Amino acid sequence: MRLDGIHHVTNITGDAPANVDFYTGKLGLRLVKKSVNQDDPTVYHLFYADERGTPGSDITFFEYPGAEPGRAGAGMIHTIVWRVGSPEALDFWAERLGVERDGDSVTFSDPEGLQHQLVVAQVPDEPLIADHPEIPRELALQGFEGVRAYARTPELRTAPFLEQIGFERGGERWETRGDSRGGWIEYERAPEEPGVPGAGTVHHVAWSSPMEEHEQWRQRVAGAGGQPTPVIDRFWFRSIYFREPSGVLFEIATLGPGFSTDEDPEHLGEALILPPNFEHLRAQVEPILTPLPNPRESATRT
Ligand code: ZN
Repeated sequence: MRLDGIHHVTNITGDAPANVDFYTGKLGLRLVKKSVNQDDPTVYHLFYADERGTPGSDITFFEYPGAEPGRAGAGMIHTIVWRVGSPEALDFWAERLGVERDGDSVTFSDPEGLQHQLVVAQVPDEPLIADHPEIPRELALQGFEGVRAYARTPELRTAPFLEQIGFERGGERWETRGDSRGGWIEYERAPEEPGVPGAGTVHHVAWSSPMEEHEQWRQRVAGAGGQPTPVIDRFWFRSIYFREPSGVLFEIATLGPGFSTDEDPEHLGEALILPPNFEHLRAQVEPILTPLPNPRESATRT
């Protein structure tokens, strides 16, 4: 039983309209679900991914309007690493993003300072691609490769924990590869200054589990000394959460039922979608949510 790489990465934005512009307009991802934070339904939870909303390509944001910029520190992820298909794609993205290519990678930040890196895929995993009029498919982002985190002494406690839950170590990198995909987390020495959660910081990384193995994963995490939450039904997937010993918030989320459960795959992300047990709040929350552009409409108009 191995986790199937990264399911999604969830982050914080203080500016949802600019967030939509950057992740759909600039990076070319598809807004696949526009919903609310299930722990605070007065603010958005936005999900961007490939054309079908596939786990492995799904970057999500909790919106806290006007949130102050945060800063990654010990126990926090500081960089999200994506795959592209070729060295030519690195050149394309360096030019599109206005940054220099740095050898085998391109590093850049979103408008709120959240850092990303692009690397050429070295694995046979299916490329997870969204359609965008300005981005040829062969140059598009292909889903997650890994995440980079800060820790004080990851070798002491994080290493045995990750190995017990099935990650394989290579240097400072721990990788997990399941039946469909692989992904990794790499640890670097944390800066002295403590981290500050806020706009432009990562909230958590979720790893993928087949539906039928989810409960077993909960037991395995508890057996390794983790303190997993009960299984929480997020409607589009089920989740458990726990902190690994260096403090990084992990989730294990199921590969299904998926984003097409409650929305036509042709029109993902266009309307505000509330899970059934939140639908009764619609009249209260819809008027107070930040108005957002429909990125596909604005793309066809320009
Ligand atoms: Zn999550």
